[in-house]
Amino acid sequence: TVKQGFEIEPFLQQLVGEARALPVSGKVADYIPALAQVNPDKVGLALATVEGKLYSAGDSTTEFSIQSLSKILGLVMAMNRIGDSLWQRVHMEPSGLPFNSIVQLEYEHGIPRNPFINAGAILIADVLASHYSASRQAFISFIRKLAGSDQIFVDEDVLQSEKQHGSRNAAMAYLMKSFGNVEGDVDRVLDHYFYQCSVNMTCEQLASSLTFLANRGLQPVTQRVICSRRDAHRVNAILSTSGMYDQSGEFAFTVGLPAKSGVGGGIVAIVPGYGVICAWSPRLNHFGNSCLGMHMITGLAEQLGLSVY
Ligand code: GLN
Repeated sequence: TVKQGFEIEPFLQQLVGEARALPVSGKVADYIPALAQVNPDKVGLALATVEGKLYSAGDSTTEFSIQSLSKILGLVMAMNRIGDSLWQRVHMEPSGLPFNSIVQLEYEHGIPRNPFINAGAILIADVLASHYSASRQAFISFIRKLAGSDQIFVDEDVLQSEKQHGSRNAAMAYLMKSFGNVEGDVDRVLDHYFYQCSVNMTCEQLASSLTFLANRGLQPVTQRVICSRRDAHRVNAILSTSGMYDQSGEFAFTVGLPAKSGVGGGIVAIVPGYGVICAWSPRLNHFGNSCLGMHMITGLAEQLGLSVY
């Protein structure tokens, strides 16, 4: 049970203040040059509950590049679209390797270990690109519907930069294509993948958009069914084992929540039955996870007693 009778927003402000006072550690992602343009000192935190409350602190209404947080929404769309056949093309095991690793793909016949490493998300992009006539439009519409806002856009500079510096992602797509697992045209698949990574959102928008995952697939305020209860369970399960890449074990050990990070510095953590936390700060540790984001989510989960275990 979550701690009751507790002033949440002042505590979020305290966490942001403490994070800002910590000695600087980590480095902004620069392998996509446009991402290095961000102000590295930003710190935002938001918590959206299944009761429809939204608490936030710091730079929680500043947009940032959602990057791999988009992998959650791509997965939900693909599950909704093609059902269980998806799991013949992507597995649900932790990879034990960095998010952009390519080596397992050859040993495992072009089948990615899970949907949250790059290879898995590129496979999902293939599913979306071949099952929607305009998959990028479908993706942004889905996000806007979840966020209840039509003011969500792609950052064109980031998108171009991803394309120009996406050789490793292209290599994975071609390798999966050579095994017959990627079905469509590789350029179209990558166009979809880079597009979804380049969407900008705020901590507040991300936390409230994902509350359906804390509420068995049902969007709390609107009562719309976003995915089945079983699929919400499955997404949370894979988030728990693979959402924080090669630091997922440590995150489960210290925090104990399904969570996902992105190289834009965002982290979302799902608290089933309670709500969703989104933390943002651009400096990353060597796993590609936000240093201060990890710190704030750890503090919040401890203070509120949020672990699922
Ligand atoms: N667009 C990034 C990439 O493909 C996403 C990676 C991430 O956020 N971990 O490398």
